[in-house]
Amino acid sequence: MPLKVIQDLGNDMVQSELMLKIDKWYDEVRVILPNLPENLQIFFLDQNSENIMPESGIGGIAYSNEIMSLGFDLNFEDKKEQLLQLKSTIFHEAVHIAQGHTLLSNDVPLLESMVYEGLATVFEKEIVGIDQPYGKYPKDISIIEDWVDRISLINPPVDFESEYSRWAFYDSDEDEAWKLYKAGTWYIDQVLSENKNLSIIDLTKMTATEILNLKR
Ligand SMILES: [Zn+2]
Repeated sequence: MPLKVIQDLGNDMVQSELMLKIDKWYDEVRVILPNLPENLQIFFLDQNSENIMPESGIGGIAYSNEIMSLGFDLNFEDKKEQLLQLKSTIFHEAVHIAQGHTLLSNDVPLLESMVYEGLATVFEKEIVGIDQPYGKYPKDISIIEDWVDRISLINPPVDFESEYSRWAFYDSDEDEAWKLYKAGTWYIDQVLSENKNLSIIDLTKMTATEILNLKR
């Protein structure tokens, strides 16, 4: 059963070629994450969306339990790299949807968002083989421990501009990008190295609270 597009990309030929690939990748990830919906809907983001990363020409949002938003810059030069990034992004957003961590339901403590982002980022690294820049954390562990301490103080309602966006995307005061993702990736790496009986796939079947309890 092919996936349904609920917002077009803006180029029918490119879209139908892409959808053949997206259908195949979604089937692949649904084998690993069997509670993903069979009938996922795809919403293509506007070409000017700020969610499309200039480095990859790709964007992704786990919008709801049935809708994945994807950005695909039609003018991005390196198509081979862009397709690899699209696959990796679909796997990342699929982890969020499988865990119910979506835009419509994500007003949770920032520490839980950190765990979910780390999980999806390590999933990209281990399952797709893409080591994303937002998963590369500082070597100085005291920096990350400080981030985790500060993240753990931020509870709902989490303000998007002053808190979420500053931690998740770019902090102009500290001139540092993706701190939430980097701290989460470090955290999940720690959980996996301390719990050798658990794999990243096992962790996708747990809630953030259950994962946080593993480390306490
Ligand atoms: Zn994410």
